[in-house]
Amino acid sequence: MISVNNAPRQLLRRLHAVMASASGAEQRLAEIVRLVANNMIAEVCSVYFMRGGEILELFATEGLKKEAVHNTRLRIGEGLVGHVAATGLPLNLSNAQKHPKYVYRVETGEEIYHSFLGVPVLRSDKVVGVLVVQNKTQRQYLQEEKESLQTVAMVLAELVASGDLFNPQEQQGATLERAATARFEGVVFAEGMAEGVVVFHEPKIEVVKHLTDNIPLEKKRLDEALGALQKQIDDMMSAEDISHQGDHKEILDVYMLFARDKGWRSKIEDIIDTGLTAEAAVEKVQLNNRARMQKMTDPYLRERLSDLDDLANRLNRHLMGLSVTAASENLPDKAILVAQNMGPADLLDYDREKLCGVILRDGSQTAHVSIVARALGIPMVGQMEEALLHVAEGERVIINGIQGVVYFSPQPEILQSYRENIESRKVLLAEYEALRNQPATTLDGVEIELLINAGLSIDMEGLKRTGASGVGLFRTEFQFMVSASLPRVGPQTKFYRDILNSAEGKPVVFRTLDIGGDKPVSFLKRDHEANPALGWRAIRIAFDRPALLRYQVRALLEAAADKELNIMFPMISDVSEFKMAKEILNKEISRHKLHHANNAANLPKKIQVGTMLEVPALIWQLDNLLPLVDFISIGSNDLMQFFFAYDRENSKLSGRYDAISPAALSMLKFIIDKCNEYNVPITLCGEIGGKPITALAMIAIGFRRLSIAPSSVGPVKMMIRSMDLSTIEAYLGGLLSRSDHSLRGMLIDFAKDHDIKI
Ligand code: PEP
Ligand code: MG
Repeated sequence: MISVNNAPRQLLRRLHAVMASASGAEQRLAEIVRLVANNMIAEVCSVYFMRGGEILELFATEGLKKEAVHNTRLRIGEGLVGHVAATGLPLNLSNAQKHPKYVYRVETGEEIYHSFLGVPVLRSDKVVGVLVVQNKTQRQYLQEEKESLQTVAMVLAELVASGDLFNPQEQQGATLERAATARFEGVVFAEGMAEGVVVFHEPKIEVVKHLTDNIPLEKKRLDEALGALQKQIDDMMSAEDISHQGDHKEILDVYMLFARDKGWRSKIEDIIDTGLTAEAAVEKVQLNNRARMQKMTDPYLRERLSDLDDLANRLNRHLMGLSVTAASENLPDKAILVAQNMGPADLLDYDREKLCGVILRDGSQTAHVSIVARALGIPMVGQMEEALLHVAEGERVIINGIQGVVYFSPQPEILQSYRENIESRKVLLAEYEALRNQPATTLDGVEIELLINAGLSIDMEGLKRTGASGVGLFRTEFQFMVSASLPRVGPQTKFYRDILNSAEGKPVVFRTLDIGGDKPVSFLKRDHEANPALGWRAIRIAFDRPALLRYQVRALLEAAADKELNIMFPMISDVSEFKMAKEILNKEISRHKLHHANNAANLPKKIQVGTMLEVPALIWQLDNLLPLVDFISIGSNDLMQFFFAYDRENSKLSGRYDAISPAALSMLKFIIDKCNEYNVPITLCGEIGGKPITALAMIAIGFRRLSIAPSSVGPVKMMIRSMDLSTIEAYLGGLLSRSDHSLRGMLIDFAKDHDIKI
């Protein structure tokens, strides 16, 4: 039996000598397996590498018949070795022959060996080989022995990476937990199709040097990297970092705990003591952590361990001097980002010429990053299984952002069907295009006004492309989110003027700054908030920092000289807040008049002031509010999250509550009826107007104006032109008193029965 305490150290020292020797790669490999066998008192030690696709080839062995080298080949999943490669996990068996995956290969002569310990050789999470020890006796290998073998496997990965063993192009590697083509299903956040290559938003790293003979130096490096990591997290926590705000906060709290955790540091230091470099030691701790993660059933603990995994990646990036996220400037053409999640500002940082799709592990339909993706026309899908994060950088990928499916390393027939899909989508888009100049009128002659949501200058092109009648919601904060400093009045004025000019006389409703929540800006320091969506955001910030709103309103007044200015405020919770906001506007109008006293033509020729209705409390003040406003705009994303008390950013809740439900429809209908009573125009903004089926429900309860993403105009108009309003009104009206969780199914059936194109 091996002497547990000294063996790993000895083994590493010898390994170091072998790796540093001048002999050829094959010779070094033979030397390594001999070393391992001796050190672990194993009769057999063999190493298999992936070569020429999904085949594992025996490259070196101590104990099996020598003629098996380069002759024994196994497919992924075949035999115990193939099983280790397929799962990416160690396999420790005292009686290997009893395992269902056991296969006997006559050329190896291995039938006399009973116990088996196999560990994967991993490079950037891809299995590139398998290292095995075997013994004649039936024995369970110790945890320490498994760890030693994993360390050797890490060093072997280095040998593979060097390209000395064989041409790296021959070695493809299996991505964990999957066969050749991986298919993932998820939820569509932004429609579209794309074909491209995987780029990790937070790139994976590959440790290139594992062994060291300068232990104090490695500890010093670790110390410095941990310091840099702590500082990085502190900076994020102090809300200066634009890309890690809002819902990342809770995660950052946990990060902070881990980063300061003495236990984590001493585990890494202990491994450095055995002769590994700091980054290899971090990788090793990570490996153990992942093995624990696989066994964990408690989802909360699993997530925490996955935070630790992420943190280890960050630490290694510091150790290796790499940047934290994929550098926008080095983005390859046709890049498809893969990420756990990301914020809207992260997305805006990337070069739009090169970025053609995004796949998120988490995410949700109404999160702002999804809204930005829709605005940019970048297909985005999310809510995928965890294995998504184990795909390989540079892998070919297809996003079918209509059905919510992605394929990694697609086979030719999948590529073919994808291209056919693209063609049929082109036909559909041409049908929408043909409707561009047609009115959105129902079969029984009721005209519905379709407007677009916008936030970036490029969205304005959508106004022309879709033939929409104006911009029902211009999210001004997007421009602030991409700016490192507070945009001054001059540049703001120019921006709004350009927007109005590109609208060519069609109305544009500007919403004043809706920052905070998941929309961080770099120039505003915020405290940690437990519930940012309910926190210091939108008009609440404006009241506490009035200069922000004053300058913005000033710029809007200047920009709309001689034109119509439509302005509304976000997150108004009661009438007094609306009055306060309007007071700021009035003060700026007076100031403007004073400054342009000699030239009345410089004022907007008409100013319409309205409010978003996103906070339920305001519904019970409509009798007081409606006489004061020129229009109302329902922010359905926020209104629904507050109405149902669900976090719109939380992927576990998305789809759980439905706007097509008696409760939500009754509430919305109450607002519409009130607005009609006071003759105040009402628009529905937010994502629920953008899907034909929800738009159908909204029109049926009385909305006549929808502000939706440009890409939704075609499908929604097509639906409107195929519906008979009076029939659907009568049908849905009869369902509002029911107690169903959702009426969606019934409405879909109704639409199908009545040939409504949903
Ligand atoms: C809404 O809440 O529906 C809305 C339009 O505003 P945002 O999505 O920008 O919060
Ligand atoms: Mg909102």
